[in-house]
Amino acid sequence: MADVITCPSGLQGRVRGMKVREERVLADRKLAKNGGQVDELLAACWEATIDPGPYALAEGAVLDLGKVLQGDRFFALLMVRALTYGPEYAFGVSCRNDNCRARIDWEVDLTKLPVRKLSEESRVAFVGGNRFETTLPDAGKKVAFKLLTGDDERKLPALQRSAPDKLLSAVLAYRVVDGPFRFVSAGLGCVTLVALAFGMFGADTAAFEELGDGGVERWIAYPTVLWMLAFGGYLMAQGADARSKWSPS
Ligand SMILES: [Zn+2]
Repeated sequence: MADVITCPSGLQGRVRGMKVREERVLADRKLAKNGGQVDELLAACWEATIDPGPYALAEGAVLDLGKVLQGDRFFALLMVRALTYGPEYAFGVSCRNDNCRARIDWEVDLTKLPVRKLSEESRVAFVGGNRFETTLPDAGKKVAFKLLTGDDERKLPALQRSAPDKLLSAVLAYRVVDGPFRFVSAGLGCVTLVALAFGMFGADTAAFEELGDGGVERWIAYPTVLWMLAFGGYLMAQGADARSKWSPS
């Protein structure tokens, strides 16, 4: 089964559902370790590029998924999942009340999730070198950042391995060009993304059985919460810095 999809950046292509070979890719532990699963999977299921969107693509050339934005890759992954197993994604959550913990069954239609398109302004910034600038609301400090691509995604597991004790400082600095915070964001986002993909596709693997539904959910949710904590702290630290600079001592 194949379908034409339009990704958030405007990239348009034909994707197909997974076959047995790709399901094996998902079960491959070595690939899981080096972060190569998503690439293998997308490369196999991306059949043809119809409109390259913001990506430079020579006539007849194959789209380099490493240059494709994380948002597009994730969208394509969701669509591959929908084509393979159907658009309904069912999962269970536990009641947050510790005395209850009742399991609540939930279901979402993957083709009906809200998608935020890449704005024209962002598209221009991406094509012009993938450099974005913004001013932090509290500190008033100007920061430059980039949007993550497939190549960035692939570097993150190695980055985390090389500095496991400095995970927070290591990953956020990767994304925000100024300051150590840029590495944290990227790494935590990546963990969430991999866990989410794993939760959606990996139901029959041994690792999934080990973690269980709840375990995988934690891998999806915790990095996001950690990121919020880290970003809050980062902004406050910026604020304190600015305050000490301006208050009389
Ligand atoms: Zn309850």
